[in-house]
Amino acid sequence: MKLILLGAPGAGKGTQAEIISEKYNIPTISTGNIIRAALKEGTEMGLKAKAYTERGELVPDEVVIGIINERLNEDDCKEGFILDGFPRTIPQAEALDKMGVCIDAALSIEVEDSEIVKRMSGRRVCPACGASFHTEYKKPAKDGVCDACGEALIIRKDDEPETVLNRLNVYHEQTEPLKSYYKAQGKLLTVKGQDKVSDTTALTLAALSEI
Ligand code: ADP
Ligand code: ZN
Repeated sequence: MKLILLGAPGAGKGTQAEIISEKYNIPTISTGNIIRAALKEGTEMGLKAKAYTERGELVPDEVVIGIINERLNEDDCKEGFILDGFPRTIPQAEALDKMGVCIDAALSIEVEDSEIVKRMSGRRVCPACGASFHTEYKKPAKDGVCDACGEALIIRKDDEPETVLNRLNVYHEQTEPLKSYYKAQGKLLTVKGQDKVSDTTALTLAALSEI
C-alpha cells in the first residue's frame, strides 16, 4: 500500500502512521523526522532547513522533494510506504506524480484548529531520546522528566504558541488545497480525528479496508 497522510500539524498523523506501518508492515517516511535528524547532525541540508522550521514555515519544495526522491528509491519502499508530512504543497504533490509514484490513497485526518492549539501547547519532548509526552493526554510518570531516559523534557521550538498559529495558517494556505487535488484523482479519504487515539485508529483502519 502506498499511502499519504494529510492533516494539520498535531492532528495525529504521526501516531496513525506508526500504527498503520506496523499493521501493513511498510515503512513510514516522515519528512519532519528526516529534517530534525539533519538539524541534529548539523548536515548542510539541516542548516538550510533550520530557520524555516523554527519560524513554523515550510522548508523550500526542492529540498524536501530531493529528500523524498532519495528515500523512496531505497529497497524497503518497494512493497509500499506511508508518507507522513509529504506532500505539503501542490508543487510537492506534482513532483511525486512526476516521479511516477502512484499512490493508493490520501487519508486526511480532520481536527478543529482550537483542538490543535490545545494539543500542541501541552506537547513536551525529550531532547535526549526523542520520546514525546503531553501535559494532559500522555503524562510522564514524573512531571517534566522523560520516562525512558530521565532527561528533563522541553517544549519543541516549533510547538511554542505563536509558532503553532503560524503553522496552522501555513497548513490552511498551502497544504489543505491538496485535499481537492487528491479528491479530483478519486483518492481522498477523510477521517474525523477523535479525542482517543484508539477511536481514530478504528476509523482509519476502516477507511483503509475500503481501498
Ligand atoms: P508537524 O509536527 O507539523 O506535523 P513535521 O514534524 O512534519 O511537523 O515537520 C516539522 C517541520 O519540518 C515543518 O514545520 C516544516 O518546516 C518542515 N517540513 C516537514 N515536511 C515538510 C514538507 N513536506 N515541506 C516543507 N517543509 C516540511
Ligand atoms: Zn528521553
